[in-house]
Amino acid sequence: ADAFNASVTAGRKLNAFLVETPEHAIEAAEAADRGRATGELRALSGVPLGIKDLFCTAGYQTTAASHILEGFTPTYESTVTAKLFGAGAGMLGKLNMDQFAMGSSNETSAYGHVLSPWRRNDGGNAPLAPGGSSGGSSSAIAARLAPGATGTDTGGSIRQPAAFTGISGIKPTYGRCSRWGVVAFASSLDQAGPMARDVRDCAILLEAMSGFDPKDSTSLDLPVPQWEAGLSSDLKGKRVGIPKEYRVEGMPAEIEALWESGIRFMKDAGAEIVEVSLPHTKYALPTYYIIAPAEASSNLARYDGVRYGVRELPEGASLADMYAATRSAGFGAEVKRRILIGTYVLSAGFYDAYYTKAQKVRALIARDFERAWEACDLLLTPTAPSAAFALGEKVADPLSMYLNDVFTVPASLAGLPAMSVPGGLDATGLPLGLQIIGRPLDEQGVLNAGL
Ligand code: GLN
Repeated sequence: ADAFNASVTAGRKLNAFLVETPEHAIEAAEAADRGRATGELRALSGVPLGIKDLFCTAGYQTTAASHILEGFTPTYESTVTAKLFGAGAGMLGKLNMDQFAMGSSNETSAYGHVLSPWRRNDGGNAPLAPGGSSGGSSSAIAARLAPGATGTDTGGSIRQPAAFTGISGIKPTYGRCSRWGVVAFASSLDQAGPMARDVRDCAILLEAMSGFDPKDSTSLDLPVPQWEAGLSSDLKGKRVGIPKEYRVEGMPAEIEALWESGIRFMKDAGAEIVEVSLPHTKYALPTYYIIAPAEASSNLARYDGVRYGVRELPEGASLADMYAATRSAGFGAEVKRRILIGTYVLSAGFYDAYYTKAQKVRALIARDFERAWEACDLLLTPTAPSAAFALGEKVADPLSMYLNDVFTVPASLAGLPAMSVPGGLDATGLPLGLQIIGRPLDEQGVLNAGL
């Protein structure tokens, strides 16, 4: 109990937790003690996890870090958290995040940014972003407050924060983890996954989180493989593709060097390295930033001041006034920007030029990957184009923030499993991540390459 309370208290310095629930973790630990005595231990008995605040947790406030959901306490449990708790895990708290999972630095949270526990070693003392949107998850794990956490990844929100904080995180194949009870951002892209210190812990957590759920129509009706038992660092016979289009212009030398060392790790493990081409890569970012806001604008229409959270009802207001006042006060600036972009690209005059076009390009991006799988079994790339940037550095410039997702969004658009693992440090001692992308359903191959 002391250790769990201390973790939660330490989390305040990082602003990692939005809701502190050490009592939940303590209860799970006590159940584990009883289980140990009677020989009834489960896969995650007593493991204290952080839960990203995008997951609905029965009886615990869930806000997706947005003011508009303040006071919303779900009466139901998301499928993923139900599975984790069913496997014996406990919850230390609900973790801070970018508002509605929109962002790459955790600075869009209505409850303040999260601090990364990392510092540069060159005297540059500016506080660093933990990445986003799963920034509370990455920060809490990197600071050793929790051994693991849930994340969600729509365009990179598990992988990029993992890379920024020197931990591991995997986004499984779209459909592996149920989206039921996860606050929706862009439903055709949203996918839950684990973040943890290493690949083995990710495999254990992913096994507990995955599985068919009739309550999610896009859930995959497939058995969950035993990923942990299947772990092997031997890559003999595996062809690892290096997509040449990811060598983007102006790529910093340290990211080039990271990639080279990743290639060496793969070779040392017995893999064959092949160059491959993903010709539509340069269209992935603009495609993502049309499709994701389009789906978000539709998903976020439900926050109307009637059904959930806050309601702003000015004197003598009409229903329409109430909607406008609630949404103006309740949503943050980035969320409003996405809603505006989304409704614009879906509007009658622009639908074909933007939304339909983006869907076609999305299909081309998916086809690029299908062709690449003829020449290789896995792909290796950097996770992000830089190490963690300073808080405040990009927040006023959404485009430079969006550019941070350049290497993570293609796998999201194609629904492929992708993982970030620590790959080394930059010149200032900050962690850099390597991304491994696999064929649909080949989480095992991804995990093994990351091991
Ligand atoms: N940074 C991306 C965005 O802002 C991805 C977010 C995510 O994966 N949830 O949309």
